[in-house]
Amino acid sequence: MKAKVRFAPSPTGHLHVGGLRTALFNYLYAKKVDGKIVLRIEDTDQSRKVENAVENLISTFEALNISFDEGPTQGGGCGPYFQSERLSIYNEHIKLLLDSGDAYPCFCPAEKLEETRKKQSDAKHTIKYDRHCLRLDAAEARKRIEKEPHVIRMKVPSEEEVVFYDVVRERVAIRCEELDDQVLIKSDGFPTYHFANVVDDHLMGITHVLRGEEWLSSTPKHVLLYQFFNWKQPKFIHLPLLLNPDKSKLSKRQGDVAVEDYLNKGYLPETLINFVALLGWHPKNEQELFSLSELEKEFSVKRINKSGAVFDIEKLKWMNSQYLKNLPIETIMNYAAPVFKSEGLETTDVRKFNAVVENARKRADTIHEMIEHSIPFYTELQYSDEDKNLLQNESSQKVLTYFSEKLSGLSKWTEAEIKSLVNETGETTGVKGKDLYAPLRLALFGTAHGPDIPLLINILDVDTAVNRIKLHI
Ligand code: GLU
Repeated sequence: MKAKVRFAPSPTGHLHVGGLRTALFNYLYAKKVDGKIVLRIEDTDQSRKVENAVENLISTFEALNISFDEGPTQGGGCGPYFQSERLSIYNEHIKLLLDSGDAYPCFCPAEKLEETRKKQSDAKHTIKYDRHCLRLDAAEARKRIEKEPHVIRMKVPSEEEVVFYDVVRERVAIRCEELDDQVLIKSDGFPTYHFANVVDDHLMGITHVLRGEEWLSSTPKHVLLYQFFNWKQPKFIHLPLLLNPDKSKLSKRQGDVAVEDYLNKGYLPETLINFVALLGWHPKNEQELFSLSELEKEFSVKRINKSGAVFDIEKLKWMNSQYLKNLPIETIMNYAAPVFKSEGLETTDVRKFNAVVENARKRADTIHEMIEHSIPFYTELQYSDEDKNLLQNESSQKVLTYFSEKLSGLSKWTEAEIKSLVNETGETTGVKGKDLYAPLRLALFGTAHGPDIPLLINILDVDTAVNRIKLHI
């Protein structure tokens, strides 16, 4: 049987780094083994539903170049899968468990449950349902189901323990005593995550469940459900927790931010994929930069780490700077164009835009930082009094006059020729070092430090450069 995996988010907000990691590992696994990946929206908790969450999710995956074989991105085929559209399936299946006695209705009101919980908590006991309704007469309970609000719970068997194998953690055993009679169907008739998740994984033919370690404690309940139904279990692969540098659980402040926000801040899709792939997985060698297609070949569940993965924002920045420097210039121009436009920097002069991006991409960690390095090429330059004085002093005037006169005569030139023109200006005017370079850079770029003068002229073009200098003579 071909492998089939799924990404099963609840539409409760934006896709976060952890969600992307789960989706990516599933995607990479499917690619590696030539299997399929399903997108399944787990929207059974009506109260936590967030407007547009699914649309955002889909557009984020599109931006990242991740596609699903079944699910909302696919017009035809078997998708989309929304659990809220599959209620009749869960109903059919809960009936089977009620009939077999592996599930039972519970009519206890919320206040009573709260009271029990409080008592158990005060006595420092495991917090779980006291099974009051398990003792009801079955026929009577069936009758009450018709008219009274109720939930349906699983009946945790009286065996010693539930055992399962996780590809990363190997043998995992949980004592049944510690398991609660989990609610499977809520009083609103919707299934809980646990029930819908297992029924769907089975019906959709999911062979491998890759998900975050925070779900590990739910897996025994799922394993019990597989046993009740007599279904084959998928292989479980729990991905290590994401941590802050101080090893606490990843927080919003440190980096558990919506993927969309990273994209909006100017982190490239290529970077985010590469960075997230290394959160809890390691390649065979020391290589750190991987394209998506390289990851598709390289990925192996055998190299998923057990210990938590630290989210290091400095590494993310470094990686982004590498992609900014190394991706084809056209790719960076495509990413940069909408950002430049939104900042009012025109991109229609392709020669200039190309040169501006080429300069800025070497100096910035994000597309947005590239803007800072580019603004002086587009806008009228502003000067402090100190700069104005510097530009007006005698030696600066000599430099600016000589250089601009010579420069305006150049029709074709190389950067080397401009460099020798700067040297010639120095020799002829007798001005050296900082006194030579600072006025030129100030006139051309607005700051005394910055890119080399030939590069500035290359970006601006000779006419603009001459005009900028002449403003100060
Ligand atoms: N709906 C769950 C979530 O929001 C899915 C967990 C799982 O993959 O089983 O992450």
